[in-house]
Amino acid sequence: MNELLKRHSVSLGFLVILLVSLYFLQSGPSANAIHEFGGATMGTTYSVKVVDDRESASAQLLALEIAEMLKSLDREVMSTYSQDSELTEINKAAINEKLVLSTEMTEVLSLALDVNALTEGAFDVTVGPLVNRWGFGPEQRHPTRIPDQAEIDALRARIGSQYLAVDKTAATLLKKADVYIDLSGIAKGYAVDQLANYLDGRGYTSYFIEVGGELRIKGYKPGEQTWVPAIETPMDTAPQVHNIFYAKGESIAVAGSGDYRNYFDLDGVHYSHEIDPATGRPVTHNLAAVYVIDASAARADALATAFMVLGTQRGFALAQRIGLAAYFISKREGQEGFDDLYTSQFAHYLSPN
Ligand code: ADP
Ligand code: MG
Repeated sequence: MNELLKRHSVSLGFLVILLVSLYFLQSGPSANAIHEFGGATMGTTYSVKVVDDRESASAQLLALEIAEMLKSLDREVMSTYSQDSELTEINKAAINEKLVLSTEMTEVLSLALDVNALTEGAFDVTVGPLVNRWGFGPEQRHPTRIPDQAEIDALRARIGSQYLAVDKTAATLLKKADVYIDLSGIAKGYAVDQLANYLDGRGYTSYFIEVGGELRIKGYKPGEQTWVPAIETPMDTAPQVHNIFYAKGESIAVAGSGDYRNYFDLDGVHYSHEIDPATGRPVTHNLAAVYVIDASAARADALATAFMVLGTQRGFALAQRIGLAAYFISKREGQEGFDDLYTSQFAHYLSPN
């Protein structure tokens, strides 16, 4: 996990903490408390805020249970860093062998395939070998030599979601080629959904969950105040607020992707961690960041990654076609500043009423 990505993940949470504490300064103590806890997971950080008037002992237990859930989801299921995760086992397994999947892996792979189809291949979890070659994989070693076309073509021969045959009912996977799966573009969102389901099951009606910048929000803060997440300015500086929006008591997921925290520069070229499976190269267009609001954080996470690959024009057209709340921030050509473009579904969240 590199420092850049870490900083990115902390930023949204940081802003929200600021907003939450501002609220407390204004309104004083309330009958309902916000229990807040967090830690490290998936090579990044997480934070959970739950509105709750139960005893603080139950809040401590909740914090422990959530830490445990994230730990096992990461180390035992989704991680390419962990040597004995289910994903590592899948990546090591032989081709044409039926592999039995956990419920979590079945869900995340099925959704990944759905988003792959929806985005015409822009989101593709089999892009792993290219992610690694470009220096954004578990090793995180930025290359000193850019791969030539022959090397890219050789890697691309192993890439394609058509090589993944997932049987959702039987919970099995068959690899039809020597694929290597990378779930980094969807796993954090999936983790957020798992935590939200868990809190829902426990009867919590108001919370703010964040894993590496991906969110699930529900209900209101004490005093019927809406949660106010911030969109950060897509620059590799200390976090700055670019815009804010209002959850309005709705149950929503928010995910963002950007080219400005996890990248390297070589010979004057900016290489970001979003890889276009069609070219085998990091994307080069002027889209700096995308935010997606959806019911599912996993889907929002994957779609935000796909939009970074598709670029502003194609991404916006797709968001409009499927009626998705999406917000695109593009760098201005040849000058400072950004242009914002968002769908009407996102505009709904930009005004407080
Ligand atoms: P972040 O990790 O900053 O939230 P994303 O959700 O966009 O960003 O995930 C980016 C990660 O997903 C990359 O670091 C890489 O591991 C992986 N990835 C890169 N390109 C693609 C792609 N086209 N489809 C699926 N995953 C990708
Ligand atoms: Mg993503």
